[in-house]
Parts: sequence; C-alpha cells; structure tokens
Amino acid sequence: MTPPAPVRPPADETVVSVVLPVFNEAAVLERLDRLVREGLAETGCRSEIIYVNDGSTDGSAEVLDQLARSHPGTRVVHLSRNFGHQAALQAGLEAADGDAVIVMDADLQDDPQAIPALVQTWREGADVVYAVRQGRPEAAWKRALFWLFYRLLNACSLTPFPRDAGNFGLMDRRVARLVADLPEQDRYFPGLRGWVGFAQRGVPVARLPRYDGRPRVTLAGLVRLAKSALFSFSRAPLGLFYGLGGLSLLVCAASTTFCLYHKLVLEIATPGWASSVITASFFGAINALGIGVLGEYIVRIYDQVRGRPKFLVARETGTSLADERPTELDGDLLELLRHARSMSPTGEFCEMNCETIEMEEAGCPAG
Ligand code: UDP
Ligand code: MG
Repeated sequence: MTPPAPVRPPADETVVSVVLPVFNEAAVLERLDRLVREGLAETGCRSEIIYVNDGSTDGSAEVLDQLARSHPGTRVVHLSRNFGHQAALQAGLEAADGDAVIVMDADLQDDPQAIPALVQTWREGADVVYAVRQGRPEAAWKRALFWLFYRLLNACSLTPFPRDAGNFGLMDRRVARLVADLPEQDRYFPGLRGWVGFAQRGVPVARLPRYDGRPRVTLAGLVRLAKSALFSFSRAPLGLFYGLGGLSLLVCAASTTFCLYHKLVLEIATPGWASSVITASFFGAINALGIGVLGEYIVRIYDQVRGRPKFLVARETGTSLADERPTELDGDLLELLRHARSMSPTGEFCEMNCETIEMEEAGCPAG
C-alpha cells in the first residue's frame, strides 16, 4: 500500500527556493534570471532565488549583486574562491529556506520552463522530483561517456539511482535539509539525493545546449566527480581484487597441474619454468587477496568516518507506551514543584500543585 500523499500548503503560502551555482556566467545571468522568474511566476508560489558565486572572475559577482538589489528575495552567496560545482551547490542548499528547493545549473542547460512541472509533481506528493534528461546536445564522445557512467554506477551501486538524471530537480524542504546535513566531504549530489530515499519521481525534461558552448566543469573535474560517485556509492572496485586473487590462484593451480603432468607422466620438464610461473602466480594471488582484505578494513573506516546515518525515518504512526509515562521534563517540573512546596508549605502556589505531586508520588501520572 502506498503511503498517503503529504498535504502541501496552498501555493500562495508556499515558498520555492531556486539554487543556482555560478562560475563565470556573466553573459547569461540577466536572461537566466528573467527566465527563472517567469518559470516561478507560473507556479503561483512565493519564491527566493539563491545564486552562489563560486569565485567568478568575469564580472558575474557585480551582475549578481545588481540582480539582488533589483529583486527582493534574491540572495547571492559569494564564495571566497572557486570551490567547484558540488561545493557551490552545497553552499546554496545550506542557504535555501523554502518549502521546496530547486537546484539547477546557471548555463541554461536546465530549462527554467520545467520549473512549473517540478513544482506540480511535488504538490502532488513527491518529495524528490528529478529531471530525466531527454537528449544531450553534447559531443558524441561525451554522450557515450555519460551513458556508460550512469549504467556502470547503477550496475555496481548499493542504491539504485535514476538513469540520466543530473543535479536538476526539486526537493521537499525536509529532504533538502537531510541532504545538506549529510556530513561527508566527497559529495556527488545526485547520489546523495537518491540515497536519502522518500517518494522520488522523475519528470522528463529536454536538456538544452549550453548558451556559449564552453563548459565550466573541466573533463578532469567530470572524471573526479565520476570517481566520487563510484567510490562513494559502490564497493565493487574492492571486489576486483578478490577476482584478481581468484584468477591468480587458478593460474597457479593450472600451471602446477601442467608441470606435474609433464614431469611425472611425460617425463619432460623445462628447468626453471615451473618454479617461476608457480611462484609468481601464487604470490600474485596472495598479494591481490591481501589488498582485498585490507580494502575491507578501509571501507569500514571510510563508512565510519563519513558518518552517513544508518537509516532515515520518513514517518511514524501509532503511539508508544512511553508517550503515556511522565517525560523527563515532567520529572524536572515535579522537582521544581517539590522545591516550591518545601519553600512555601502554606502558600497558594503550593495548594494548587500539591495534588499533582501527591499523585505522582503515589505512582499515578497526573494529567
Ligand atoms: N560551476 C560552478 N563552479 C565550477 C564549475 C561550474 O559553480 O567550478 C557552475 C556553472 O556555472 C554552471 C554549473 O556549475 O552553472 C554547471 O557547470 P557546467 O555547465 O560547466 O557543467 P556541465 O553542464 O558540463 O556538467
Ligand atoms: Mg552545463
């Protein structure tokens, strides 16, 4: 049975935050701001826009400051230098205060016209709405790499992730807080957003061409991000060493059999061959298995250090017996009342509360 859809407040009582990381995008900012505002206006919600200036050097800072001066509800967080896309995004999430938080790129590849669809899907009950990219107006090699990356990540990840979904999407306030509060340093935002769970829904959105065709995230940056995604959400690379160890053991067993057969049955042997091959494959296997075992400890240390919660609670129903017992606060209150009784045994304050104290002392909770 699916849980009941959460009730969202009416549109005019809802605040939608839009977070936009910006690195040297001065040429597009005014157009982008206008399009984002148009998208937000269509939702009928109140809104705030948060630009994170990630150490731009092309005058973006001044344009953003001007936008913030012209439009109430627009904020700019200027980072002290360029920290990278994921860090800028995190800064924006920490600053966002809306009931729903939209995250999108500032280069017009994420279509601001999709904002109403994201908000509508959230209003219908989804906690996370991610844009599923339709088409990729990029070079064929880049498209192929992304295609491979999403499939590889899904094949070896412990959590299933939606394919072809990047950063663009919306999170309910609660989910946005949870994602922002995850303490790990090495962050792959779409992965963390998928990991937290809750009701997740995809909305198809056309991926547009970059307005100037010059990506700000370098190829090396993309490779680093792909590594973060794979190593943060998968233990499969570790399994590789067990595989290699097993393979070396097989080679060792096969070459031993081969040598013994030649020596004992055919009575021919090449001097030095058996000892080199068997020794090399045997110690190769031991090495690989040793790395595998070491990796097991390292993965456990990594898990402990990055401090991801073991689970997140979506909601609870029913009451516990503990709810009916006096809480710790009741205990403190009782102490206070006892103190008051001892201070003024005949006062009016005491008469009002003596009954409560006596009931508690008799083991029968008041109220
Ligand atoms: N960006 C950023 N810091 C960086 C690099 C990029 O804040 O160091 C921003 C950039 O301005 C854009 C978004 O991150 O709004 C995505 O960058 P890009 O378009 O280069 O990434 P791609 O679309 O190629 O993944
Ligand atoms: Mg882009």
